[in-house]
Amino acid sequence: MALNKERASAVRRTDRAESGGEDLLAQLESLRRPLAGDVPLAAEVDRLARPGELYEKLPDDRVHCYACAHNCTISPGGRGICQVRYNLGGTLYVPWGYVAALQCDPTEKKPFYHLFPGSDTLTFGMLGCDLHCPYCQNWDISQALRDATAGRPPGRATPAQLVSLALRNEARCVASSYNEPLITSEWAVAVFKEAKQAGLTTMYVSNGNATREVLEYIRPHTDGYKIDLKSMNDRRYRQLGAVLAHVLDGVRMVHELGFWLEIVTLVVPGFNDSEDELRDAARFIRSVSPDIPWHVTAFHKDYRMTDPDNTDARTLIRAAEIGYEEGLHYVYAGNMPGRVGPYEHTRCPACQAELIRRIGYVVEAYRLTAEGACPECGTRIPGIWPESPEDVRLGTLADLFYRTPRRPR
Ligand code: SF4
Repeated sequence: MALNKERASAVRRTDRAESGGEDLLAQLESLRRPLAGDVPLAAEVDRLARPGELYEKLPDDRVHCYACAHNCTISPGGRGICQVRYNLGGTLYVPWGYVAALQCDPTEKKPFYHLFPGSDTLTFGMLGCDLHCPYCQNWDISQALRDATAGRPPGRATPAQLVSLALRNEARCVASSYNEPLITSEWAVAVFKEAKQAGLTTMYVSNGNATREVLEYIRPHTDGYKIDLKSMNDRRYRQLGAVLAHVLDGVRMVHELGFWLEIVTLVVPGFNDSEDELRDAARFIRSVSPDIPWHVTAFHKDYRMTDPDNTDARTLIRAAEIGYEEGLHYVYAGNMPGRVGPYEHTRCPACQAELIRRIGYVVEAYRLTAEGACPECGTRIPGIWPESPEDVRLGTLADLFYRTPRRPR
C-alpha cells in the first residue's frame, strides 16, 4: 500500500534522524495505515516516534511488544493493537517527544485519595489506547488512530520542559494519564526520571492491562498506580478490548511490586452495577489487600455509550456499602460532591475516627499525624502522605468551584 506523499516524507524525517538507514525508507511504503484510515494526524503521530525498549526481535523481522498484556507480534510494516507502536524493518517504533493533552489537575481527580491530599498533579497524555471502551471520557485522544472523528494535534515537548512546567505551577506530582500510559511507557519513564530528580512524585493512571516486564521497567521511576477495574465479567471486558484475567493479574502484580495502588470502578447502570458484580469486585480487591482504596464513581453518558442512564447517588452509596461489607478498609464514592454521605471521607478502620474530610477535590480537614497515623488510636493509614500535615492545602465548600483542572502557565 503506497503512503501518501505528506505522510511518507513526515515519517522519513524521523527515520533519517533515528536510524540513518536508507533501507528503512523503502519499508515505509509498506507501513499499514491505522484503523482510522489515511488521516493527516497519523502522519504526524508516526513521525513523533523512536525505537522502543519494551520488545524483542523475532525471526523474519517480526517483533514481540510486551508493553501491555496484548503481547502483540508485529510483522514488518504492521502496527500493534494500540495503533501507535509499529514495526519498521524489524525495529519497534514507539511514541516519543510530544503530549496531546496537558493539565494541572487536583491529585484527587486521578483519583488518588491516599497520595499527597490537596496537591496538584501535572498530567500529560499522548495518543492511542490498547482498549476501545465505548464510554471513554477521553476518547478524542485515546481513539485517535482508530476513529477518524477523534484526534487532537500533538504538541512537541521534552521531559525537562514538562518538569519545569510542573515546578512553575507548584505541582507536587506528575502523572501519565488521559490515554493509556502503558503503551507509551518509554516516554513516561523519560519524563519520570527528570521528575524524580526534581523531587516530584510520579503516577500512572491506567487500565491495568499490564505485563510483569512493563511494570518492572517503570517501577524504579513510578510511585503511584491507579487501575480501572471496569467489570468482573470477562465477556464484558472483551467488548472493551481486554481480557479480565489479564487485568486481575495486573492488579496483583502492581500491588506485589510495591506501587501505591488505588482502584476505580466506573459504575455503569446495566453494565456492571449488579449487586453480584460489585460484590465480586470488592471480594477480589480484598483478596489482594483490604488496604487498597476502592473508588466507585459515577458514569455520565459519553462517546458511543449513551443508552444507560447516568449513575445516581443511591447506586454509588450502595456500591460503597458493598465495599465495606466485603471487608475493604477504604471505599470512596466519587463524581458526586456532597451527595454521597460519608463516602468521600477517610476513616480509621480501627477506631472509625474521621481522618480526612473531603468535598469533591477539596480537602476540608486533615488529621493524620506526620507519620501517617490516626491521631486517636495510632493505626497507620497506608498511603504516601506529606511529612508535615500543615502542608496540606485545606479548603471549604466555596473552593469546590475553583479547585478544578487548569491549564499550566
Ligand atoms: S502496547 Fe500493547 S497493543 Fe500496543 S503494540 Fe505493544 S502489546 Fe500491542
